[in-house]
Amino acid sequence: MSITENYQRIRQEIPDHVRIVLAAKTRTREEVREAIMAGATDMGENYVQEGEAMHQELGEWASKVTWHMIGDLQTNKINKALPVFDMIQTVDSLKKAQAVNLRAQRLDKVMPVLVEINIGSERTKSGLPPELPLVEELIEQAASLSHISIQGLMTMGPRFGDPEVSRPYFRAARKIFDTLGKRNYAHAPMKELSMGMSNTYKVAIEEGATMVRLGTCVFGPREACRRT
Ligand SMILES: *Cc1c(COP(=O)(O)O)cnc(C)c1O
Repeated sequence: MSITENYQRIRQEIPDHVRIVLAAKTRTREEVREAIMAGATDMGENYVQEGEAMHQELGEWASKVTWHMIGDLQTNKINKALPVFDMIQTVDSLKKAQAVNLRAQRLDKVMPVLVEINIGSERTKSGLPPELPLVEELIEQAASLSHISIQGLMTMGPRFGDPEVSRPYFRAARKIFDTLGKRNYAHAPMKELSMGMSNTYKVAIEEGATMVRLGTCVFGPREACRRT
């Protein structure tokens, strides 16, 4: 199956309100361009430098889609990230929120962000621990940051072979998301819940994801020799 066929099949299969963010890591300009031509609306990058390079290579094609930073955000790369990305999905500390806010302010821009939670409490993963008071505290402390707009939550979730094993984690993320939504924070409308990848997106959508991040099931397997 081609990238075009994969993308269009999945797009038809899932509800219209769910956004598909394609994970572009390790993919070539030609592959990403094919996805955009097939109708892709949102593209995700894990590294600021790779996002920058892809923008340059794509030229005017880059402006046809919304760009998401989905990798770990390094503070010293935020200046370069701001012109490239339309949303940063991986804010997991007040320090990072402040750093994005400060740089966005200098550019006279309001940056949409998601708060990343580590729903499986995995040592190797970034994100806030999945405890409501901690997420709440970060959001409340960020209320004075007028150059970021907290749009919701993002989570990776542990990887299992069987997608059903992920269900309780997605459900737990949804619960935190819904509870925060009921707080009606003016600076943090809980509109987006970014969760689910190639092997788990169906379960994630059933559990309330508004955004799924897909690589393999659209672009095909990543080659082992490439950086993943
Ligand atoms: C690579 C990646 C994905 C997509 O992974 P696939 O299993 O290839 O669909 C989603 N989210 C993040 C943060 C990623 O790095």
